[in-house]
Amino acid sequence: MNKKTALVLGGGGFIGSHLVKRLVTEGFWVRAVDLKYPEFSETTADDFVQGDLRDPLFCRSIIDQKFDEIYQLAADMGGAGYIFTGDHDADVMHNSASINLNVLDACLRRNSKRIFYSSSACIYPEHNQLDPENPNCEETSAYPANPDSEYGWEKLFSERLYLAYARNYGFESRVARFHNIFGPEGTWCGGKEKAPAAICRKVAEAIDGGTIEIWGDGEQTRSFLYIDECLEGSTRLMRSNFAGPVNIGSDEMVTINQLVDLASRIAQKNIHKNHIPGPLGVRGRNSDNHMIGERLNWSPSMSLESGIKKTYAWVSKQILKQKNSSNA
Ligand code: NAD
Repeated sequence: MNKKTALVLGGGGFIGSHLVKRLVTEGFWVRAVDLKYPEFSETTADDFVQGDLRDPLFCRSIIDQKFDEIYQLAADMGGAGYIFTGDHDADVMHNSASINLNVLDACLRRNSKRIFYSSSACIYPEHNQLDPENPNCEETSAYPANPDSEYGWEKLFSERLYLAYARNYGFESRVARFHNIFGPEGTWCGGKEKAPAAICRKVAEAIDGGTIEIWGDGEQTRSFLYIDECLEGSTRLMRSNFAGPVNIGSDEMVTINQLVDLASRIAQKNIHKNHIPGPLGVRGRNSDNHMIGERLNWSPSMSLESGIKKTYAWVSKQILKQKNSSNA
C-alpha cells in the first residue's frame, strides 16, 4: 500500500518540526520546507527542501504533487519583542501574506486542496481583551475586527484567503487560531522567544534568591498550550469535516506573575520580580474552548504545570550546553 503524503511548510520551525516528527511516526511520507533546518534536532522529514516560500516559482516546485495533507505554518513571526514593537510590521505583513498567496496558488494548480492554516489568537479585537480577568476570545468575536498588531491583521486576511479558496475553488481549508504554543525545542533566547521559554531561561539563569526582569506589572493574563496538545488538535482538525476558524489553545489562564512563580517552584528557587517597561500585547487573553469541544469532541487537557516542567528541564539543558561550549 502506498504511504499517505504530507507537506509541512515551515517544517524547520518550532511547531513544524514537531509536526514532522509526529506525521512520520504516524506513517506518512513527509516533505518539509523552510528557510532553515530545525535548530535543535535533526529533521525527521523524508525530504527537506530549503528555500523561500515568498518565491512563487519555488512554491510551485515543492508543491509538485497532490498531497493528502498540507500544513501551512511558515510565517515571519516571533514573541512580543518582535511583533509588538512595530519595527518589523512591513516585513511581517509582506512576507507572511506573500507566502500564503503563493502557496494557495501553487496548490490550486496542483489540485492539492486539503490544507491547514495556522492563524493566531492575535486576530482577536483589542477591545475585548482589556479586562485581564475576563477576556473574550470566542471565535465569533473576531468581527468587527480590531487586532492589536499588524501580525494579527495579516493572519486575519490570510484566514479569509484560505476560506475564500474553499468557497470559490473547492479547497478543504482548515483554519486554527493557535494560542501561545510552547515546549522543548522552541526558541529560548535571542529576541524571538515567547514568555514561557523566556521565563524558564531567566529563572534557570538566576541564583536562588535572585531577581528577574518582567515586562509590565505582570498582571496581564494569558494561557499557554503545550506542543503535543497543539499537534493533537491540529491533526484532529485537519481530519475532521470542520473548516474553522477554531481556537487551539489552553483555557487555563494565568497572570505572567503566576507563570514566573510556577517556573520558580519547579526550579525550587526563590525568585523576585523586577517589573520594567516593555512591549506587552493585550491585557488579557484566554482560549475559549467551547467550539473545539463541540466540533471536534476534544479539547486540550494537559496542565500548564506539566508542560512547564518539561520545558524548564529542556531550557536548563540548553543553558548548560551553551556554557560548556563557550568554556571549551
Ligand atoms: P517558527 O517561527 O518557529 O516557525 C515558522 C517557520 O517559518 C520558521 O522556521 C521560518 O524559518 C519559516 N519561514 C518564515 N518565512 C519563510 C519563508 N519565506 N519561506 C520558508 N519558510 C519561512 O514559529 P512557530 O511557533 O513554529 O509557528 C508556526 C505557525 O503557527 C506560524 O504561522 C505562527 O504564526 C503560528 N502561530 C504560532 C503560535 C505560537 O505560540 N508558537 C501562536 C499563534 C500562531
